[in-house]
Amino acid sequence: MTALQPAVASGATYDPLIELRSLRRVFPGASEVQALRSIDLSVHPGDYLAIVGPSGSGKSTLLNILGLLDRATDGDYLFEGVNTTSLSDPERAGIRARRIGFIFQSFHLLTERTAVQNVMLPLAYAGEARKGRRALAEEALARVHLAERAEFNPSVLSGGERQRVAIARALVTQPAIVLADEPTGNLDTDNTNSVLDLFDELHASGVTICVITHDQNVADRAQRSIRLRDGEIVERS
Ligand code: ADP
Ligand code: MG
Repeated sequence: MTALQPAVASGATYDPLIELRSLRRVFPGASEVQALRSIDLSVHPGDYLAIVGPSGSGKSTLLNILGLLDRATDGDYLFEGVNTTSLSDPERAGIRARRIGFIFQSFHLLTERTAVQNVMLPLAYAGEARKGRRALAEEALARVHLAERAEFNPSVLSGGERQRVAIARALVTQPAIVLADEPTGNLDTDNTNSVLDLFDELHASGVTICVITHDQNVADRAQRSIRLRDGEIVERS
């Protein structure tokens, strides 16, 4: 892929991209919650991994930790060989901005901005020079087949199109991995299928994807899956 240049030079691809070792997350309180119990997991460049499990099993907690939005209680999280547990908050934010793309169930688009302006936003956080941002955002929109919607406001787009704008926003910095939390949870069947078709295309072009879902049809489209129950990986397939 030469269409998109990295926002920030990233060096060689590191394998494993992600490594979790005996990772735990406890939410303290009157009734302490063991949200994750001793998770071991590796993600390799080019993986397309689904994380499945019932509500409350720890999926979002795991994704928040993978996305460096939350810290483990103990255990190690290596990202591109760097042990993130010993990094400062600003260091973690830097990795998050440059190396991780996020996709949410409810899209999280700014409705007072156009599609292309939404896609440009992460480039500012990643330190990309202002003058290059629009071209990179337009290329990312082309990658999700929305080039002709660049100047549209999200409010006039369908749910599937909004999610594709959000996917372009996740891709625009050329992240090492895209993390998606229930990306089809707000979509009907047709729009779900268009998003899943797009994930297939992105995976085929080398994008590393980790998708959380409680929908088995979504999980079945991934290359492999892990199943969580009560904060533990109970199945790998
Ligand atoms: P899932 O995404 O699979 O539905 P979560 O990761 O959101 O599950 O939650 C896992 C467990 O951790 C649940 O028991 C939930 O109530 C608890 N939990 C999640 N976030 C918090 C929090 N901030 N404080 C306390 N408990 C939490
Ligand atoms: Mg959740």
